[in-house]
Amino acid sequence: MLSVENARLEKIEHPLFDEKNVQVFVQRDDLIHPLVSGNKWRKLKYNLLAWKNSKKEGVLTFGGAYSNHLLATAAACQLENIPCIGMVRGEELNPQSNATLAQCSALGMRLIFMDRMTYQMREDKQFIEELSYEYPNYYIIPEGGANYYGMIGCQEIVKDFPSDIQAVFVAQGTTTTSSGILLGLSEQQSLFVVPALKGFDVAAEMEHRWRYAGFPDELWEEKQIQLQIKTVDQFGGYGKWNEELIQFIKGFYQLTKIPLDVVYTGKAMYALMEEIKRDRFNHQQVVFVHTGGLQGNPEELKYLFTI
Ligand SMILES: *Cc1c(COP(=O)(O)O)cnc(C)c1O
Repeated sequence: MLSVENARLEKIEHPLFDEKNVQVFVQRDDLIHPLVSGNKWRKLKYNLLAWKNSKKEGVLTFGGAYSNHLLATAAACQLENIPCIGMVRGEELNPQSNATLAQCSALGMRLIFMDRMTYQMREDKQFIEELSYEYPNYYIIPEGGANYYGMIGCQEIVKDFPSDIQAVFVAQGTTTTSSGILLGLSEQQSLFVVPALKGFDVAAEMEHRWRYAGFPDELWEEKQIQLQIKTVDQFGGYGKWNEELIQFIKGFYQLTKIPLDVVYTGKAMYALMEEIKRDRFNHQQVVFVHTGGLQGNPEELKYLFTI
């Protein structure tokens, strides 16, 4: 059974932190597993338990062509011997279209390619009902593990944080991880989220996520006061990066020996550094949650991180 025993809270050093008198810790969820990395395992944990209780034969989930969630699910299912199906956005694709899909397929995931119109209905109640008639032996996990089980799995990330931590930083995709973290934080702590998608309505998305997971609206109203949104759009939006980001990731690795990815954690760490530069955290203690995602890095960074 997969576990989080490799994950740990690590204090990191940087000249900027001394200058600003801030203590920075990294929650190393990237060390959980090379493929079932970081928050993806947190989100799968209770979903796989729910699958077990459902007594169904396998699991079925959704993802885009480069989905870390799809790959994590394929790897977790292989480890646990669970048959799995991945519904992929894009009918023009095939199992060899890219490295992520090829790896999912090699791990034993059956890939089914959907046109974009149908894929858009992936959270629609009736659509899910029809899908479960078609695949009665498969337990359905939403895209990105974005449900109640995903959220409570992520709530556990902050379980062992020292109580004198004032702020937590995390990258955001479906908002499931940040929602779980927010649930777990005490009233005095703030959560800084860095969305990977450009022009993303964080509050609307999170509110939808909390309602979909079955939490009362009042709880979201109460907790959203602790939330702060930091955007980094200068690298070109979702899934895009440029030389400046690559240089930042390389420099950060040289100082801390912690690898970051180009889609999520590189941008989120960049945002944290900017805030520190602006004196936002002077005399405070901050935790950066490293959500993993390193398997999707460009070749040039992969080389750097393995030497
Ligand atoms: C998937 C992913 C995220 C986004 O998590 P959500 O729960 O979808 O918000 C963040 N970081 C990494 C590395 C990821 O792979």
